[in-house]
Amino acid sequence: MSRTFDDARRWAELGTDVLLKAAAGLDGDAYAAPSALPGWSRAHVAAHVAANAEALSNLVHWAATGEPTPMYASPEERAAGIERGRALPAAELTAWLHSSADALARGTAALAEEQWRAQVVTAQGRAVPATEVLWLRSREVCVHAVDLANGVSFADLPADFLTALCDDVVTKRAAAPGPALALRAPATGAAWQLPGDGEAVPVTGELPDIAAYLTGRAAGPLTAEGAPAPALGAWL
Ligand code: ZN
Repeated sequence: MSRTFDDARRWAELGTDVLLKAAAGLDGDAYAAPSALPGWSRAHVAAHVAANAEALSNLVHWAATGEPTPMYASPEERAAGIERGRALPAAELTAWLHSSADALARGTAALAEEQWRAQVVTAQGRAVPATEVLWLRSREVCVHAVDLANGVSFADLPADFLTALCDDVVTKRAAAPGPALALRAPATGAAWQLPGDGEAVPVTGELPDIAAYLTGRAAGPLTAEGAPAPALGAWL
């Protein structure tokens, strides 16, 4: 893993910008249309991203004060936030995307160096330094900007972010059952070995296509034999 704190800060800002632009001008009908995520409308995605910004602001509060404030009180609270948000009128949902992003940006801008090193716990139960908040936010805004299905694709995201995303997903997938893969994006020189069942299947393609495949957003590039890449389980 070679990403730095400054990388994650840059991607979080850029991704927030891309996401807000993708949501700008969506009206009620456009929000009600399907997103790229099965069973979710664009409004579900937007409400999830806004609620996630508030949840990450809880971690920033934790780092700033030492007072344990988890991202979500419970899985039920997390789901209820998405349901409330998606039912909002379009302009209010878009306003919530902006206000939650602004609040998170203000919170992180105010953290001192030693507060960034404070340990917090993610929604998945991982204890991490607060600096990881910027990476979690980068991942959310960049990937969900694509999920909004309003013109943003993985190819619009920076190559260094996509490489870091693939690093992250491969690490996570290596801990779960699945096929062994030898992934390569020759144009960038990036390669990943995903341990798993059977002999590693070579999957070679453009970096954005590999990222879309690994995150479960697309079927993925073909293998060297011209067969579809092996199906993968859910990522998160
Ligand atoms: Zn998410």
